[in-house]
Amino acid sequence: MIRLKSGVGPFVIQQYYDALTEQGIKCVLRNQFISGAAGELPAQDLEPELWLMDIEDAAHAESVWQSLQSDSEAQEWVCQACNEEQEAEFNVCWNCQQSKHPMNNC
Ligand SMILES: [Zn+2]
Repeated sequence: MIRLKSGVGPFVIQQYYDALTEQGIKCVLRNQFISGAAGELPAQDLEPELWLMDIEDAAHAESVWQSLQSDSEAQEWVCQACNEEQEAEFNVCWNCQQSKHPMNNC
């Protein structure tokens, strides 16, 4: 069993888990449902993790992740004005305040 993904939000990792399961890839979520539990560890040690049961599925799992990213509306983007990489949740460039979709402003 290998750790496939961590450091992403619980919603994203759940979505990935669902997509992998749909593809017949065996995987498990860890630390997903911690908010209701009396955890003994600090919250930052309990970020959700997705573990792959069979390492031979890793390449397939990665391609599922890639297609999930390209399907998603909320993805990282690159400013068309200054080429700085942007976080998905921002709609304007942090560097030059260019809009994410400058064409739509006309
Ligand atoms: Zn910019």
